[in-house]
Amino acid sequence: MRNSVIIVFVSIVLALALYINNSKSSKREIMNQDCVFCKIISGQIPSKIIEETDDIIVIKDIQPKALVHYLIIPKKHIANIQSCTQQDQALFGSMLLMAQKLSASLAGSQEFKLISNNGASVGQSVFHIHMHFLSGSSFQKYEV
Ligand code: 5GP
Ligand code: ZN
Repeated sequence: MRNSVIIVFVSIVLALALYINNSKSSKREIMNQDCVFCKIISGQIPSKIIEETDDIIVIKDIQPKALVHYLIIPKKHIANIQSCTQQDQALFGSMLLMAQKLSASLAGSQEFKLISNNGASVGQSVFHIHMHFLSGSSFQKYEV
């Protein structure tokens, strides 16, 4: 009887561990081997990480165009807004709330600019969706 209880308990723990592992990896499903941001997310390319959640990473832009220039990037590889689906709706909400968190936690960033380039002709150079979080002065390329 006691052995049965232990076996049931261990089975439940294993099933839970399997479920948690699967749900984490499904968030990172489609990784693109040729994508610089996917390589940053997987740790193959180093970067200055500012914030990280299960779904999102925030890094410092390698070529800052403002005093504060961060990139809010979903861990899931999506090329741009044109290729989003209904399933990605919550992810975009999380990206906006991440911008709010950055604004609240960074000195001098109460006011900020969010930019997302979608397509090569408007300046997208990395085809993994992202938002530029810019604050402070000296907006160069992104002055509109
Ligand atoms: P986009 O031009 O696609 O809107 O923005 C891509 C941004 O990614 C650029 O501002 C560029 O400086 C940045 N970037 C490109 N490669 C790297 C990299 O390897 N590391 C970091 N931290 N930023 C990068
Ligand atoms: Zn990617």
